[in-house]
Amino acid sequence: MSEALLPDPVSVTVRAPAKINVYLGVGKVRDDGFHPLETVYQAVSLYDDVTVTAAEEWAVTLLADGDHVDGSAVPDDDTNIVVRAGKALAAHHGIERAAEIEIRKTIPVAGGMAGGSADAAATLVALDRLWNLDTSDDDLLALAADLGSDVPFALVGGTATGTGRGEVVTPVDDAGTWWWVVVFSDEGLSTPSVYGAYDLLEGGDHDYRVRPAMLDTLRHPEDNPDGLPMFLYNDLEDAAFYLRPDLQTTAEAALECGAATTLLSGSGPTMLAMATDADHAREVAGRLAGRGYTRTAVAHGPVAGAHVVAYG
Ligand code: ATP
Repeated sequence: MSEALLPDPVSVTVRAPAKINVYLGVGKVRDDGFHPLETVYQAVSLYDDVTVTAAEEWAVTLLADGDHVDGSAVPDDDTNIVVRAGKALAAHHGIERAAEIEIRKTIPVAGGMAGGSADAAATLVALDRLWNLDTSDDDLLALAADLGSDVPFALVGGTATGTGRGEVVTPVDDAGTWWWVVVFSDEGLSTPSVYGAYDLLEGGDHDYRVRPAMLDTLRHPEDNPDGLPMFLYNDLEDAAFYLRPDLQTTAEAALECGAATTLLSGSGPTMLAMATDADHAREVAGRLAGRGYTRTAVAHGPVAGAHVVAYG
């Protein structure tokens, strides 16, 4: 049957990945309050699934998957970023529509893994299909950038550099499969407070550009199999450790449990322990559990950006 004869879907489910920043360089705060960034994003295998269904009014339902997801911090009204995404898409096309949006959440809330951004990207793709809009990639990326700095990357996925506020995304060839133990934190850590501490402690007056050798290592891991851990870097780590000394203790525990290296995820408080392969990751997670760090997940990257997984 040709595509033109297919009926419009009643519902669409889109899966969008969490991100980590394998490199995060932060410059001096700009007059508009934003910090210029140079980052290398990687999409990893922790996902939120967003299902949209045609409705008269906007409505949001959250299903929390796993005890590391605190759904109470996620609004279920029009302030949820998924509703903002839906309204922005409708306004872009000059149409008046609404939808019910169900978020099945595995990405920790306020964990520095851009879960809200993943949901926004998933909603843009899902509603574009539900409403049969055929929005161009460039327009989707522009709508995404208006919603938040990390939203364009959640559309693109894989591994990519991010510049500007992080919203200018350029894919990077990444020939590796990198393994991570994601160590969740009991409490969230607000992104503005981490940037505030960063301004006080460091200020950003330094060369924060990503090293070309790091991108070469991603493109050709066979030339330098041990290379990536050397380049992992996050300018916000000292600020997050200053606000939350327990995160430094987590990093030390992960190293004692055999991790190749550790890294703060974005603005935290999630910590990442790098492993050499899937078995090593499970071993490190097992040892961490023995030390009381039971809220962990094993994830790998890079994985695809927001993509349709089901039509209803
Ligand atoms: P980033 O790394 O981009 O700072 P994050 O992963 O630390 O993001 P999010 O989980 O994206 O943080 O959410 C930050 C805040 O946004 C939450 O505390 C919540 O109040 C609000 N929010 C609005 N919509 C959502 C959503 N769909 N999912 C999660 N949080 C949302």
